[in-house]
Amino acid sequence: MSRMTICACILQSVSPVVMAIGAFASTVRAQIGPPDLIADLVTANHILYDQGVVDGFGHVSVRNPANPERFFLSRARAPSMVEAADIMEFDLDGKPTGGPQDKPVFQELYIHAEVFRARPDVHGVVHSHSPAVVPFGVVKTPFRPVSQTGAFLCGGVPNFDLRDDFPDAPNLLVTSSAKGAALAKALGDRPVALMRGHGDTVAGASLKEAVYLAIFTEVAARLTSQAIMISGGGPITYLGDHESERNPPRRAKGASEGIDRNWEIWASEALARRTKR
Ligand SMILES: [Zn+2]
Repeated sequence: MSRMTICACILQSVSPVVMAIGAFASTVRAQIGPPDLIADLVTANHILYDQGVVDGFGHVSVRNPANPERFFLSRARAPSMVEAADIMEFDLDGKPTGGPQDKPVFQELYIHAEVFRARPDVHGVVHSHSPAVVPFGVVKTPFRPVSQTGAFLCGGVPNFDLRDDFPDAPNLLVTSSAKGAALAKALGDRPVALMRGHGDTVAGASLKEAVYLAIFTEVAARLTSQAIMISGGGPITYLGDHESERNPPRRAKGASEGIDRNWEIWASEALARRTKR
């Protein structure tokens, strides 16, 4: 039997198996969630990395539109490397309910679970160690916006300190439902909570809004820091609470032309840079 004949035989015998595996894989993918939403979640991971909000750490999730008691989140993987096959589904106790079951999960997935539990209005959550934001968690200077793009921060940014409720915790990570619930309580009805010595958590009415808010929280932190530095200790005219552009109808919708416009360019840039890597 020639090599070519052997190959043909193998192909004939393997093809049905390969097809079956392919069908199974696509079935699994179909079951994990709406393909467009899963694709957006993958893109959200790439955008947040490309925009410098996350590095090897940090994660983003979206509530399952078919079951509000479940949400989608990548397995523990660097956001820039996340693919559709990495997306898992969890319940609000942090238990995996779909997707790859044999992979490590994020220790801090309870952030997402408990924010989704406490906030029915929230459909997207970002947790990051957003570098320009972290300093505001360890100083007395309030984190207030100086720019229109940070107007959603008007009204105050709570600062969650894990040690308030868990003085004996070995680190500042949110690694249980109880710690996640404490964070969600500190967040209240706000879009952003600082996490002392750690980072921040952002809650959006949609996945895209959460990404938008996370990026512009990082931008706002840079701008406010610069204003403080160049003020030389002098007064700063922050945006007033009455100048916030957030309003209930837009927020309930979870989308706006501004969010979509930014998402389009962020996704395009992330894809271009990812392709070059
Ligand atoms: Zn963290």
